[in-house]
Amino acid sequence: MSNTTFEEIGRVLREHQQFVVLGHVRPDGDALGSQLALGLSLQKLGKNVRVWNEEGMLEKYSFLPRAELLTKPPATAEHVDVAIALDTAIQNRLGTTLAAVGSAKIWINIDHHVTNPGYGDLVIIDPSAPATGEIIFRLIKSQGLPFDHDIAENLFAAISTDTGSFQYPKTSARTFEIAAGLVREGDLDVGKISQQLYENYPRRRLELLRELLRTMRFSECGRIATFGLSLKTAAELGVIPEDNEGLIDHLRALHGVIVAVFFEELSDGKVRVSMRSKDERVDVCAICQKFGGGGHTLAAGARVRGTLAEVEEKVLEETREAVKRACVS
Ligand code: 5GP
Ligand code: MN
Repeated sequence: MSNTTFEEIGRVLREHQQFVVLGHVRPDGDALGSQLALGLSLQKLGKNVRVWNEEGMLEKYSFLPRAELLTKPPATAEHVDVAIALDTAIQNRLGTTLAAVGSAKIWINIDHHVTNPGYGDLVIIDPSAPATGEIIFRLIKSQGLPFDHDIAENLFAAISTDTGSFQYPKTSARTFEIAAGLVREGDLDVGKISQQLYENYPRRRLELLRELLRTMRFSECGRIATFGLSLKTAAELGVIPEDNEGLIDHLRALHGVIVAVFFEELSDGKVRVSMRSKDERVDVCAICQKFGGGGHTLAAGARVRGTLAEVEEKVLEETREAVKRACVS
């Protein structure tokens, strides 16, 4: 499926009235910020817009401007003219929001995951973009769609979180130019937004990190670092899913570590695997695809059936092989 143009998407946005904007399960700042930004722009254009995510708005992102616009999907399906999936590599990662769309005349798919197969009628997949928020900014600007402070702040949060505060390799001159545009035109207070994003965690998140570090293991001479969370520990600590976003970065940040893996036991008999790589030669997306997952070369995930120990063993075996191959090449 080849990409359509911003012009074609701009035309469809202008010509229709009823919209729904969706994002992936276990949402991150890029999904939620991009959803709100596009939803707000469409609303300002005079459209009827719903913005749904399976989990609704997360507590930690509830400071985002107009966060109340983003809700859980309704129990009974609704009909829209246009359904837009953002930041969602594969359609079933829309979770319960998918069934809540009874029908849509047109499906639009905008994403930056290289594994996205291009589902939908109008598709823009740009794997060079470090965040879906960057693509939404270019769409809004190129098509002269409404833009204001609230939209800018949502897009800044999307881009800041998905680039690891402008650090990950896909962060480009274009990313900084877009960020500068957001700050200038949206009159953003970067210090305030960053404090809300990165210095506002509940204490239980650090208590979770303490428990995760107790389970920390290394293999392949310190090139692979892992930790895991059982349902039992999660219940004892009273943590919620959003608490663990980003904790894997503590493993990745270590000298000598090439691959970091986080294993999280889920209540449906599966284990959520989250992987990070610091070396393009170790493609963690390829490893996750072997287990039915996907993502990016340096950040990927999968949900694998089995116990924590079983999944750890299977995934570690593949990871060791990939690291060995990279280290001899
Ligand atoms: P995280 O480790 O932060 O949950 O996810 C890292 C990246 O991998 C994200 O871009 C996310 O979309 C992708 N990803 C995570 N879990 C899955 C999964 O189960 N399936 C697919 N296809 N992608 C995933
Ligand atoms: Mn993203």
